[in-house]
Amino acid sequence: MVHTLDAIVKNGLCIGCGLCASLAGETSVEMRWTPEGRLRPVTKTPPAPATLKLINRVCPGLRTSGMDRAVAGDGAVLDTAFGYAHAHWRGWATDPDIRFRAATGGVLTALAIHLLESKEVEFIAHVKSPSDAPLRNVPHVSVDRAGVLEGMGSRYGPVAPLLHLNEHLGKGRPFALVAKPCDVAAVRNLAKHDPRVGKNLKYLLSISCGGESELELTWRQMRRFPVEESELKLMRYRGHGCPGPTRFETKDGRELNANYNDMWADKRFWFLQFRCKVCVDPVGEQADVIAYDIWPGGSPTGEDEGFNGITARTPRGKALVEAAAAAGALTIQGGESFALLHDTQPHQTSKKMGILGRQIGLFLAGQIAPRYPGLRVFRMAWRGGLRHTLKNALGIFHRAKGGGTTEPVMRV
Ligand SMILES: Cc1cc2nc3c(=O)[nH]c(=O)nc-3n(C[C@H](O)[C@H](O)[C@H](O)COP(=O)(O)OP(=O)(O)OC[C@H]3O[C@@H](n4cnc5c(N)ncnc54)[C@H](O)[C@@H]3O)c2cc1C
Ligand code: SF4
Ligand code: SF4
Repeated sequence: MVHTLDAIVKNGLCIGCGLCASLAGETSVEMRWTPEGRLRPVTKTPPAPATLKLINRVCPGLRTSGMDRAVAGDGAVLDTAFGYAHAHWRGWATDPDIRFRAATGGVLTALAIHLLESKEVEFIAHVKSPSDAPLRNVPHVSVDRAGVLEGMGSRYGPVAPLLHLNEHLGKGRPFALVAKPCDVAAVRNLAKHDPRVGKNLKYLLSISCGGESELELTWRQMRRFPVEESELKLMRYRGHGCPGPTRFETKDGRELNANYNDMWADKRFWFLQFRCKVCVDPVGEQADVIAYDIWPGGSPTGEDEGFNGITARTPRGKALVEAAAAAGALTIQGGESFALLHDTQPHQTSKKMGILGRQIGLFLAGQIAPRYPGLRVFRMAWRGGLRHTLKNALGIFHRAKGGGTTEPVMRV
């Protein structure tokens, strides 16, 4: 069955990656901000049937797969919770300024700069916060160090990193993408249908992702000061320290800082998009390299200098990390294993154990349930136990019946 974009959005499965708009073209589909502070595709003229069929095959809301064994390569070790890997390190950007200003230790920024300066790629597709509307994150293309530095940091609000992917692929030039696991999954889906991905998109760099919030997460912080969105010239969720403060700067010169942990103190106010609640791959299983926080237990207890966990999932990713370290861009410490992920990302394991139950709950409620081939959903449910699966199935079922798993659809 082929679903319309409106159906994907209505069923709460859209994360706003922008790939559908990129494939359909802006005269057909446009990404727009909803009143709740989500980014969603709006259909202006229905995409051609073949395009809609392709979108159904690549949309990460409908389908997210595990890494193909062939892409993982010889020697890759599989962990049931965290996927394939060739190597794990602790690390940080050797440049102290990058390390300080970046989200964690600046590993993704250092890798992106290394890729450009070693001429392995001609541009980096990632995201940034624009100064004229700092909450309204936009896709960003960097061709040099200064451009990469502009995109540094974590944006916990919506963004459509794949909005220009079709255009980038059309250039026929080597590039790398830095994006969330669901964005990477969409690109790997597309690679099965579009040979330009394998030819031009040389590296997929990603993160461990706790979820992308609606803008209400940020608006709520702002009401405490209070400050209006229209007054802002800068908004940083973290960085300038690790994690660093959540910072707002206004056009009239006010500098407002909030404690990073305050944002995450109460789960009821995370305003995570529903797609994140049924996310089977929050750890970038299909990326070449992922970089993540390594706070024991998953949360910071204070400030530190910025230490990333780094996991190379493909031979290409491992070679990249080693080359960046040899070139002095990265400082890495070896001797790590999957234990680094288990110790620092426990929330991802418990989430994965509930995914089968959540799929069942959606199915029973008559909603579209996303498909997750190759992601060991049954094995993780087995690990979580029958009670955990039932709890998740019933939770989602009741939530669906109460209307909590669907969204209004925006019209032109
Ligand atoms: C929504 C979100 C949730 C996260 N949840 C977790 C978590 O649960 N556990 C954990 O260990 N780490 C999490 N992180 C990752 C963590 O915040 C750091 O991004 C990661 O450790 C890499 O740090 P770095 O210093 O190498 O990044 P930097 O060197 O600062 O580079 C970050 C790169 O990511 C890109 N980027 C930032 N935000 C987005 C976005 N929303 N979508 C696409 N690309 C983006 C930037 O353009 C930049 O290129 C999350 C990040 C985000 C954006
Ligand atoms: S998840 Fe991406 S591809 Fe799917 S509907 Fe949303 S914006 Fe389009
Ligand atoms: S939790 Fe999953 S679906 Fe949500 S933003 Fe992160 S990777 Fe995407």
